[in-house]
Amino acid sequence: MFIHSSRPLLRSFQDLAESTFDLLILGGGIYGTWVARDAASRGLKVALIEKGDWASGTSSASSKLIHGGLRYLENYEFGLVRKTLKERKLLADLAPHRSWPLDFLLPIYRGGRLKRWPLKAGLLLYDLLAGRGQPVASHAYWSKKRILKQSPFLRSEALLGGFRYGDCGTDDARFCLEIVAGAIQAGAVAVSYVEGLSLLRGRGNGVVEGALVQDQISGQKAEVRARQILLTTGAYAEAFLQRQLPGGAVPTKARTRFTKGIHLVMPALGGEEAHLLTAPKDGRVFFFIPWYGRTLVGTTDTAWSGDPDHLQVQEEDVDYLLKAANSFLEDQPWGRSDVLGSFAGLRTLQNQEGLAPSEISREWTLQQIEPGLWLPIGGKFTSARVEAAEMVDAIANAEGRAVGNSQTHRQAFPWTPEDGFEPWQAAQQKIGRGLGLDSIVIENCVRRYGKRVDGIWKLIQRRPALGARFHPDLPFVKAEFLYCAKEEMVVNLVDLIRRRIPVSILAPLEESFLREAADLAGEALGWDSSQRIHQMKLAESGPEYWRSGA
Ligand SMILES: Cc1cc2nc3c(=O)[nH]c(=O)nc-3n(C[C@H](O)[C@H](O)[C@H](O)COP(=O)(O)OP(=O)(O)OC[C@H]3O[C@@H](n4cnc5c(N)ncnc54)[C@H](O)[C@@H]3O)c2cc1C
Repeated sequence: MFIHSSRPLLRSFQDLAESTFDLLILGGGIYGTWVARDAASRGLKVALIEKGDWASGTSSASSKLIHGGLRYLENYEFGLVRKTLKERKLLADLAPHRSWPLDFLLPIYRGGRLKRWPLKAGLLLYDLLAGRGQPVASHAYWSKKRILKQSPFLRSEALLGGFRYGDCGTDDARFCLEIVAGAIQAGAVAVSYVEGLSLLRGRGNGVVEGALVQDQISGQKAEVRARQILLTTGAYAEAFLQRQLPGGAVPTKARTRFTKGIHLVMPALGGEEAHLLTAPKDGRVFFFIPWYGRTLVGTTDTAWSGDPDHLQVQEEDVDYLLKAANSFLEDQPWGRSDVLGSFAGLRTLQNQEGLAPSEISREWTLQQIEPGLWLPIGGKFTSARVEAAEMVDAIANAEGRAVGNSQTHRQAFPWTPEDGFEPWQAAQQKIGRGLGLDSIVIENCVRRYGKRVDGIWKLIQRRPALGARFHPDLPFVKAEFLYCAKEEMVVNLVDLIRRRIPVSILAPLEESFLREAADLAGEALGWDSSQRIHQMKLAESGPEYWRSGA
């Protein structure tokens, strides 16, 4: 089955109960979505369910980097870094709209933890492991003068100079959504707001043969039959297994630990580069990352336990990052009132006893819990594609199905423009300017929608008022709200304002903005006024909703 990429992403709970699947995937973060796309492309009959919105877990709370992970070289994780650097190149080739080059500056201070020659060795190795044809230039040493010219906001006292190196940036939630579109295009049934409640087992043999699932919108339940079940449920997996396995006994190989990572959204610092810095308190690496006209400051890495649904940014997380960030700013330090938003995510790691959170390997593993039940642990957003391919190999093998090799390394993303990215991008700039849009909005639209951007242009052509910015400080236009609500499987307002267009984490939204977003979504989805008010309340009650002066 081939569905054209310009079709809207539609949600159909009924499709889940209508057939027996080869593979049922619980969890629509980056791992679940890549597996769905890969397995469906190889001819398996696949169902993918997500208990909330696509990427509503860690996959919308990352640092938004498609990177090798320079800091993992300190832990000698060379295999991991080589793998992710290879993926960095591949993803930039397959989806230049989705993964774009981002220059990093790495300032060196007298008395700081980062020293010139060990860094030089690390960066040489980073370039070497990356190999040829990468989307970013290899590293270079910059004088103090050049660093300060590029980033005049950096503290000049004790600055010695620094390095420039490259990695890639992305919008993680939209990346995930595009892979969902790819999975649907390849024939998978993919439905958001469906929770896997429990496993179904054969009466006589107790073998796993599907899951009881529940539509989170209607409350309706259904039995989804599948021979193989994959739990890409991230931080929720161990608790799910505890409920499903006899006596709640989760085998050691399926045990996990969590660390929490938060980001603060701060005003733009100016300049297009990201910065790699180390916190004076404990020497941990953290970043300044430019994103949609703001600066993301993150992340933290602290041991965490509890219910992932109640994960929150806490006072001490904010204090830690503000203190670390301020130690690198020349002028006015940032205070709490400068924080524009925040978000938190969980790393799910193998349970390696006795190690500090930042020492635990980010290496990914796949565990077979019992015949027909699989659990991946760990990993990175960047490496999820290649690890998904390994999962499909293992699952198809267990099924005794000859499905051939993964093809995702050569399948363009569904929204990748067909005829050369740069000329296409230039053509879109021209069209966008003709519609009265500024170049920053156009560039963001191009990256956010890829070749579907003509859907935005058409809306603005028909109703020029939709070409106005939604919020004066943010590079999004009103047409995007209408478009995403209609075309991108938006169920609740929060899906629209947090993940399709992340305004709720980029600015404290006064009521008038929230109302306008609800009205645009309501127009697309047919919400009456009471539904709009209900959706606004729901959005405001979310853990990441940031109020002015909060
Ligand atoms: C702070 C932080 C920064 C990071 N930065 C980067 C980075 O810059 N680059 C990078 O490469 N990696 C980064 N990572 C790692 C990367 O983000 C994660 O490895 C990745 O997002 C994990 O994806 P996932 O699909 O395993 O989990 P998740 O994205 O958490 O997805 C699991 C999903 O399962 C759903 N679910 C749970 N239970 C059920 C159920 N019963 N039924 C149905 N659905 C269910 C959840 O709602 C959730 O959406 C970062 C991680 C953190 C924490």
